[in-house]
Amino acid sequence: IPGQDRTAQWVRADRDRLIHPNLPSGRTDRTVIVEGRGCHVRDSRGRRYLDAAAVLGMMQVGHGREEIVSAATAQLGTLECFHLWESMSNDKAIELAVRLTDLAPAGLDRAFFTSGGAEGNEIALRMARFFHYRRQQPERTWILSRRTAYHGIAYGAGSVSGLPVYHEGFGPQLPHVHHLTAPDPYQNSAYDGEDVTEFCLRELRETIERIGPDRIAAMIGEPVMSVGGAVVPPPDYWPRVAELLRSHGILLIFDEVVTAYGRTGHWFAAEHFGVRPDLLVTAKGITSGYVPHGAVLVTEEVAAAVTGSTGFPIGFTYTGHPTACAVALANLDIIEREKLLDNATTTGGHLADRLATLTDLPVVGDVRQIGLMLGIELVADKESRAQLPTGTAPVAQALREDAGIILRGNPRSLLINPPLVMDRATADELADGLHTVLARVEPDGRV
Ligand code: PLP
Repeated sequence: IPGQDRTAQWVRADRDRLIHPNLPSGRTDRTVIVEGRGCHVRDSRGRRYLDAAAVLGMMQVGHGREEIVSAATAQLGTLECFHLWESMSNDKAIELAVRLTDLAPAGLDRAFFTSGGAEGNEIALRMARFFHYRRQQPERTWILSRRTAYHGIAYGAGSVSGLPVYHEGFGPQLPHVHHLTAPDPYQNSAYDGEDVTEFCLRELRETIERIGPDRIAAMIGEPVMSVGGAVVPPPDYWPRVAELLRSHGILLIFDEVVTAYGRTGHWFAAEHFGVRPDLLVTAKGITSGYVPHGAVLVTEEVAAAVTGSTGFPIGFTYTGHPTACAVALANLDIIEREKLLDNATTTGGHLADRLATLTDLPVVGDVRQIGLMLGIELVADKESRAQLPTGTAPVAQALREDAGIILRGNPRSLLINPPLVMDRATADELADGLHTVLARVEPDGRV
């Protein structure tokens, strides 16, 4: 077992030398992951875990795929790195742009490459404002977003994120951002008894009137909220939002950083709702996380405005990185050949069936599923639908320690985003572990 005898050393060095996101300083335990295959990973002590989070919702094709290693190695040996500045290009970036715009909902015909999700949202926000600027409407600067949204932690992407933890203590955020109510059918007390879509549409209409339609650049949203709790909106929400925005010339940005590339059973979740956004941001599953990469797909209309006669003036050092593009192409080959979109639908459906009876437990309020994206809402009390006083972190820790299942939670929900290669037996292993551990959770959050 690799590294077994070095675990104590690593754990000490980790505590002394690393800063982790989201780790309280008093917590001393560490799980050092050293290898992975398929849906499973192994730690430095040799313990095997089911990776029900697909790392962070990105490992569509699973761990340890030789085909991707070969594609990366071949590209590293041919042209490891190049850029797309001015008229320079590279073959892999061109091939990936063609592949993605062929797969994308009709009308999204141009790609801009990034190295991750926050960078993608940053580009989308800049493109939205620049689109209007170039079309002689520079006063269109407002961005509409939703509370409980997560779009990454760059300042722009963080500002449009709707969770206070990303704002508090970080100084002034991007101005001209307004957060709307997110459509969350389970937490329907937020809607004063009104239909969720009607409530959200009325609020959107009133907000557009108050700010002024000619001052709004875009609305950004995850078609299905991920960090917010795998929240699937009512089917009429996005079509009606898109129609209203379009009638006012406001651009729609879909953040599909989690939902793209098969997670919901389609290439893009936009297809579920029959909506074609003006800009669609992707990352994570584009390379199954083997190397960092992302792509923003936009309409010809957006591309024409932001490139204009003088060009789109901004880009990243790694925009169009050929090794990342080669990995993405190999990854898309596997998703297609192994029919992972279909597997997301069937295995996701099987998991939802297996998990449906969890709501018989006093602490499980709701189980939501779309493809292989699931959320389990934990409540202290089913009447008020209040979250567990401890949040879900102790439950996630018990799942890891007692059942060998790795997943993450937000304060209200456990999030399940396993690799799309998950088979029925592994789905059953996950369902069994969840049933066993969740049956032990008390309404005060103790496990
Ligand atoms: N958008 C969504 C919906 C996400 O879930 C995430 C990350 O989890 C991001 C954006 C940010 O992506 P990254 O961490 O690659 O910057």
